Amino acid sequence: MSFYKPETVSCNGESFSIYLTKKEIERRVEELGEELSAEYEGKNPIFIGVLNGAYIFLSDLMRQVEISCEVDFLKLSSYGDEKVSSGQVTDLKDIDANIEGRHVILVEDIVDTGLSMKYIVDKLQAKNPETIATVSLLHKTEATHHNVQLDYVGFRIPTLFVLGYGLDYAQEGRNLAQIYILDGEEE
Ligand code: 5GP
Ligand code: MG
Ligand code: MG
Repeated sequence: MSFYKPETVSCNGESFSIYLTKKEIERRVEELGEELSAEYEGKNPIFIGVLNGAYIFLSDLMRQVEISCEVDFLKLSSYGDEKVSSGQVTDLKDIDANIEGRHVILVEDIVDTGLSMKYIVDKLQAKNPETIATVSLLHKTEATHHNVQLDYVGFRIPTLFVLGYGLDYAQEGRNLAQIYILDGEEE
């Protein structure tokens, strides 16, 4: 099976260049899976993925976890179709599982300002889980100004718009197997 992984891509009329290769992503996801397997042995954690962006990362990550676990999803929107956060979080779908007394592992694609992560953690905390850990594949460290605790981070990246591996630009580009960065433009 081959994956869609060009060197450069054009998405909605803008150019992007390769930033993290499939190999680099795979290696890091494997490490995160090993860490989570060791930490959650015997705890039957429930992974909660944030749709849409985290679906590819979550599906790869879970297959690197070698203990019994469950999965559920929630959906929210903060970016609309733009390249900058709208500053507002809209709920689109809540989880179905009862997480009271459970070990929750929240999985995000990327933490930018931290608004979404903070919003979700507060929302899940109100459902009385035993613990909540947060995982994000990407973290724009310098852009984060909301107070969020990130327990597992794949890659720390600069404040630049990225695309691929589940992350979209106006809904396109999620099927790219690698992560691309917008050419020659700072946010
Ligand atoms: P935050 O609430 O931390 O400002 O933004 C988080 C959400 O905005 C992420 O879950 C993701 O959906 C979206 N986002 C933030 N930065 C980027 C980016 O560089 N590229 C893409 N495609 N989405 C982003
Ligand atoms: Mg997200
Ligand atoms: Mg988006």
